[in-house]
Amino acid sequence: MIRTELNYIRTRAAADSIISAEMGYYQFIAVMDNRTTPICQSLDGEIFPIIELSQGENAPPMHVRCRSTIAASEDDGKQGRKPVGQRAARDEDGKRIKIPADMTYRDWKAVYIDKTRTLEDWRTEKIKSSLQSIMLENRIRGEIVYPPPKLDVSKFKFDAEHTQGDKHPHNVTEEEARRFVSNAYFTIVKYNGNSYNYYGREGAAFVRMDLQTIRTAFKSDEYDEKVKKLIGVFENE
Ligand SMILES: [Zn+2]
Repeated sequence: MIRTELNYIRTRAAADSIISAEMGYYQFIAVMDNRTTPICQSLDGEIFPIIELSQGENAPPMHVRCRSTIAASEDDGKQGRKPVGQRAARDEDGKRIKIPADMTYRDWKAVYIDKTRTLEDWRTEKIKSSLQSIMLENRIRGEIVYPPPKLDVSKFKFDAEHTQGDKHPHNVTEEEARRFVSNAYFTIVKYNGNSYNYYGREGAAFVRMDLQTIRTAFKSDEYDEKVKKLIGVFENE
């Protein structure tokens, strides 16, 4: 009872400081070990408007002896803002470990306890879904592929006129263009799978699969705002 009471006061105090800091949202944070109740497991990582905070409904304590907490969140999460850094958790032996802060209880359980996924799987899925939501929100055409398909372009032709000619003076060398393919963060596939557009930190190379040609390549300073958003997914990692 005392513990529940304490959680009630603590959450109230946290809510007050979130309000006075003029942050619009809070995130529900469950403790990551095997004693966490199903209700707190399911709420873990959820973001709510601070004005909708209701203890026992969407904020701790959710039950007697609840150990969950809340933290300020600037956005509603759907806008792509995720908690950064690390959070405390335990592994299957109960040993203290650090895990990525944006991992939810369900993710933690799958990776560290049930081992149905690896941490790498989790990261890949997270990146993929961020990229897909940016594609949708910004109405970017084509299908995003992550991780980018491995492609041996060593025998592909290089359209020098398009990359270095007067019409499109991108000033990208053949060697650079091939490197943009192998170092790409992701690929956008267009024109019924005939065009594989590789984008990375340094630059982009568009490969025509049907023509076995690197059709064009340009450096990252030519990226538009939409592409910059996609690239941002990797820069914030
Ligand atoms: Zn709880």
